[in-house]
Amino acid sequence: MTLNIRLRLLFSHLAVIVLAMGLSGVLLLSFLERYFLESTEESLAAQARITAQTLVPGTLLAGPAAEDQTALNNIISQRQISNLDLRVENSQQPQAPVTPGDLDLSYLAESSLQLGAQLETRIRILDQHGVVLLDSLDQSVGENLAQEPLPAQALAGRYAADDDGVTMMVALPMLADEQLAGVAYLSQPLRDVIAVMRDLRLRWALATVIALAISGLTGLLLSGAITHPLRRLTSAAGAVAGGDFNVEVPATSRDELGRLSRAFNDMTGRLRGARQMQVDFVANVSHELRTPLTAVKGTVETLRDGAIDDLEARDRFLATIESETDRMIRLVNDLLLLSRADSEALNLRRETLDLAALAQETISHLQNHARQTPLRVEVAPNLPAVWADRDRMAQVLLNLLDNAIKFSPPGSEVRIHLQPGKRDTVLAQVSDHGAGIPAEALPQLGQRFYRADKARSRAQGGSGLGLAIARTLVEAHGGELWVESVEGKGTTVSFTLPVAE
Ligand code: ADP
Repeated sequence: MTLNIRLRLLFSHLAVIVLAMGLSGVLLLSFLERYFLESTEESLAAQARITAQTLVPGTLLAGPAAEDQTALNNIISQRQISNLDLRVENSQQPQAPVTPGDLDLSYLAESSLQLGAQLETRIRILDQHGVVLLDSLDQSVGENLAQEPLPAQALAGRYAADDDGVTMMVALPMLADEQLAGVAYLSQPLRDVIAVMRDLRLRWALATVIALAISGLTGLLLSGAITHPLRRLTSAAGAVAGGDFNVEVPATSRDELGRLSRAFNDMTGRLRGARQMQVDFVANVSHELRTPLTAVKGTVETLRDGAIDDLEARDRFLATIESETDRMIRLVNDLLLLSRADSEALNLRRETLDLAALAQETISHLQNHARQTPLRVEVAPNLPAVWADRDRMAQVLLNLLDNAIKFSPPGSEVRIHLQPGKRDTVLAQVSDHGAGIPAEALPQLGQRFYRADKARSRAQGGSGLGLAIARTLVEAHGGELWVESVEGKGTTVSFTLPVAE
């Protein structure tokens, strides 16, 4: 049988109560029972002592000393003893003091014993052979009890006490000059003790049942509070597994379940974002490819319609086809690189790289194309080398310089500034005095296919992947890339790279 969490919590709750109540009940009740039996025995022994000394003044008694009693025992005994109203009639006790060795209890056989009505103690006095001389119930006078276990022990000179679960019995040897003169044999029904114990057990069982009911109820409420959100999470997770990313679970509490629910909502949020990105990505790629493909197809149709015979027009059209094809190849290469970066398959070939020299090289390469834009590299003294892939870094610089040139008016300077950065990095900054980027567009910058100025970017052959690729490559090197820009004033794109060891 499989139990759900709620039942398991409930059962463990109840098991703890049963265990705690059961264990404490067994310990406490058995202690109390022993305690009651001991005090009954103490009290009976005290009664035996009083009886013996009342009947036979001067007798010596074997058995437990009265001082051994605990304070509480003492109180109980004293109360019971104060109830002992002993009257011996027709006792022909010799007046002379008992002298050692000549104690003879036979005179007691002529006497009768009366006890106070409040006491249920049965008192029997036996002679040194075990014959009953005196019985407060007058039932067994003349009988020989020497074979019974307790009188037998007392006749052997030892104090004896025992109970059979119903009656407590005490046998006390009476000695004169270390000679056994007789035995005081007392018995008392344990009715009160049994009744009190039964009552205590009942109350304990009732307390256990009440505790179980209360803890069962609170356990049910508590386990419900835990399992309800879990059930909600389970069904929400099932919905996500089935492809529905729009589910959200309430996450109001601050405990572990609240944190789990918040984490779950974050996860579905990210999944929604990822799915949207995927949809957008495919739409963007299709859109980016459609423009050059349409251009190529249109050009081919024009050529086929007769332009192919016009030599000058043919060259122009072929040049268009070539540039559009180049544009598509660039786009596909960019996408390939991004997808490699996503699957961590960039295979960076890192080396100790002089970034200043690489910047200089890139600038001289670009300067041929951008003759109207002065390009300059500024290097701080003692610039450390970086630990980077040369070709990838060249691509980053190329992308950033390309943008800076593209979005700057002719004649305004573009500058690369290299200096040591924080925490063992080199900080590279590409700044221009161009159009700048609107503040609201800055957060989206670097997302794939995002263009702040769509018309201009597209007109200049941009696909909105240049910054995304630069950022991806820098981050793959363990660096960071960010953009600062003031519209109309210019833009600075900064990135860091780790210093070579
Ligand atoms: P694109 O191929 O369009 O240049 P990028 O990813 O390189 O794509 O740049 C994204 C957008 O960021 C550009 O379309 C442009 O709007 C803006 N941008 C990037 N660099 C600059 C810059 N130096 N000055 C002004 N705008 C810039």
